[in-house]
Amino acid sequence: MSKIKMATPIVEMDGDEMTRIIWQLIKDELILPHVELKSEYYDLGLENRNATDDQVTVDSAKATLKHGVAVKCATITPNAQRMSEYELKEMWKSPNGTIRAILDGTVFRAPIIVKGVEPLVPGWKKPITIGRHAYGDMYRNVEMKVPAGSKAELIIFDKDWNPTDKAVIHDFGGGAGIVQGIHNTDESIASFARACFEYALTIKQDLWFATKDTISKTYDHHFKDIYDEIYVNEYDFKFKQAGIEYFYTLIDDAVARVMRSEGGFIWACKNYDGDVMSDMVAAAFGSLGMMTSVLVSPPKDGKSAYEYEAAHGTVTRHYYKHMQGEETSTNSVATIFAWSGGLKKRGELDGNAELAAFAEKLEKATIATIESGVMTGDLYCISTLPEGQKREVNTQDFIREIAKRL
Ligand code: NAP
Ligand code: MG
Repeated sequence: MSKIKMATPIVEMDGDEMTRIIWQLIKDELILPHVELKSEYYDLGLENRNATDDQVTVDSAKATLKHGVAVKCATITPNAQRMSEYELKEMWKSPNGTIRAILDGTVFRAPIIVKGVEPLVPGWKKPITIGRHAYGDMYRNVEMKVPAGSKAELIIFDKDWNPTDKAVIHDFGGGAGIVQGIHNTDESIASFARACFEYALTIKQDLWFATKDTISKTYDHHFKDIYDEIYVNEYDFKFKQAGIEYFYTLIDDAVARVMRSEGGFIWACKNYDGDVMSDMVAAAFGSLGMMTSVLVSPPKDGKSAYEYEAAHGTVTRHYYKHMQGEETSTNSVATIFAWSGGLKKRGELDGNAELAAFAEKLEKATIATIESGVMTGDLYCISTLPEGQKREVNTQDFIREIAKRL
């Protein structure tokens, strides 16, 4: 059988530890036998980031903007202990942070659903994807303790520091307290909105957005207004064509509706809401090893860039076991779905139906493997399949079992 050809390269960002080992296995066993892989390879392993003064991370992000699609392996974000472990020249920044800053994107996280690993919310039948705004609000705040008897004011100055607007926050005459100042920018909110609208069109699912605009009549309301304006001017027609909906409600109403829903939509969240809700959704769907993540940049000249990865880290504890010659049972599903997501998108963008179809097959074979009862340890523990119908396999064998079904 001849291998599937690719017209445009996919940007390949290799990584660290257990996920680096899984990366190679996925390529060797699942992809290279079927696809004449055209990839522009960047080694984001910590050793090479150190050797290149982290230039490789910047280069890989720029290549993603150029080619439009990347697949990333999990990478170590160095801390003090890693400084000595890898004899680093500097405590290099988080690669994901660097890539996100260059792509200016929004991160979407979605669980992979398989029979036998049931969500803790019984009504959830389809994935719920969280799109989290990754700039501002509480994450860029200034805050202070306020002694009793003081007053706090919010003042806006023009560029020459002449006050143009002010309001009393609180008179602390009655006792001490605290204040906090937060901000966001129209540009960042608009990027966030466009990334969510684009992603909804990509996966053809409804988009929900929620804030507390009844209470925060200026701040949160501004998010709602920017979303509304962009939707009406740029997306209303496209959404109707695609048969999907944009739906706005209050955040507390959204939470209640999410719990009662079947899933199958994207939930756009402000920064704090996204932080909290993505952990809630991830935990309720089962395992970190089953959570995918894609970074979507706002469209430039009508085109977004997409970077696919697993939501988990490099699974260090398993790697140390592996290095001591012990057997591991690390779940490779999220990393396989990062590859299939990237190849599917590459196929779509290039009009390469064969490549997109292969990516679909890879996902189906992965899910079929688990549903047939063959799974890694993390899933074995929570699978509702009866004993005797499920079997725990090691890292390598799990991937080989998928290869057999491909
Ligand atoms: P982690 O790698 O996500 O692993 C935490 C624990 O979750 C593991 O020890 C394991 O639990 C379980 N787990 C995660 N993924 C799994 C999988 N695929 N299969 C089975 N179990 C899985 O997080 P971490 O240990 O906090 O971080 C390790 C390194 O990853 C750090 O250097 C961090 O900087 C980096 N990191 C990178 C990214 C990224 O590149 N996107 C994200 C997060 C963290 P058990 O040990 O109980 O089996
Ligand atoms: Mg969190």
